[in-house]
Amino acid sequence: MEPKSTLEKLGKKSISATDIASQFWCEKQMELNYLYGRKYTKEMAKGAEIHAELHAETYVPLAIEPINYTDFLYKEFYENYLSLKGLKEKGVGREIKIYGSINGFRIIGKIDELRIEKGNVVIIENKTKETRYALSEAVVRPHKIQVMLYKRLLDDIIEKRYTGENFENTYIKGLKPLSERFVDELNALGIEKELQSIEGIYKKMFGEIYTMPQVSNSLELHYIDRFTGQKVESIKVTYDKEKLESLLIDAMKYWNGEVKARPVSEEEKWKCRFCRFYGKECKVWYDGTL
Ligand code: SF4
Repeated sequence: MEPKSTLEKLGKKSISATDIASQFWCEKQMELNYLYGRKYTKEMAKGAEIHAELHAETYVPLAIEPINYTDFLYKEFYENYLSLKGLKEKGVGREIKIYGSINGFRIIGKIDELRIEKGNVVIIENKTKETRYALSEAVVRPHKIQVMLYKRLLDDIIEKRYTGENFENTYIKGLKPLSERFVDELNALGIEKELQSIEGIYKKMFGEIYTMPQVSNSLELHYIDRFTGQKVESIKVTYDKEKLESLLIDAMKYWNGEVKARPVSEEEKWKCRFCRFYGKECKVWYDGTL
C-alpha cells in the first residue's frame, strides 16, 4: 500500500493560508492541532466574534438553503461575488475567499478585508490581541506571511497563473447539477438566468477579480483589542515576492513529505510554554524546567 501523503495523514484536501502562516509559528504544533483536534479557546471565541461583527457590516447573504454540494458551492461563490462587487461599490469587502495553487497543492484562504485606498486595493488582515502583551517579531511574522500570501494568490488570478480552467478542474468538474429546488429559489429571488449555474457564477466571481483596481504592494495588519474590539495597532508590510517564494519553498517541503513537521528552534523554545502539547504529545524541548 502507498504511504499516506501529508494531506491524507491530516485528513485534508487543501492547504489553507492559515496553515502556512502557522508553520512559521511552529510547524509541529500546526500538525498536532490537526492530529489531536483544535481546542477552541475563550480567546479564539472572542476573536471569532469580532470577525463576525466586522463581516456583518458588509455581508449580503444569499438566503437560500443548499440541498446538495453543488448548491453549497454555488452559495459560497455567489456570496464571494457579492463581496467583491461590494468592494468596487462601497470601497470595502470583507471575508473574501481566495483560491489558488502552489506546487500542485490546492490552496484556499479567506481575506479579512479588501479596501480601496487612493485607487488601489489594500489587503488587510485583522488579528486580535491582548493589549498587555507587546507585539514581538515572532508573533507578527506568521501574520506578515499570511497577508503576503493573499497578495500572491490574488496576483496569480489577475495575472492568469491560476486560471478559470485550473479552478474548474479542481472545483467544478464532475459536480452534479444544482438541485431543482435551489434553482426555483434562485428564480424566485430574480437572479438572472446567466448566473443560475455554477460555471456562470464562478466566472462572474473571477471577472470581479480581473477587473479590480491594482492590488497594492503595501499590505496591512490591524491588531484589535480582544476585549474592547477597538483597533490598537497597525503594521504596514511591504510585499516581497522573492522572500515569500523562498519561504513557500521551505513550507512546501513539509507538505511534499520531504521533511517531518519541524519543532521550534532552540532560540524559540519559549513558545513551548504557550503550547498545549508541551510535555505531552511533543517532548522535543521538554526538560521539566520551562
Ligand atoms: S511544544 Fe514547542 S516544539 Fe512542540 S509543538 Fe509545541 S511549540 Fe512546537
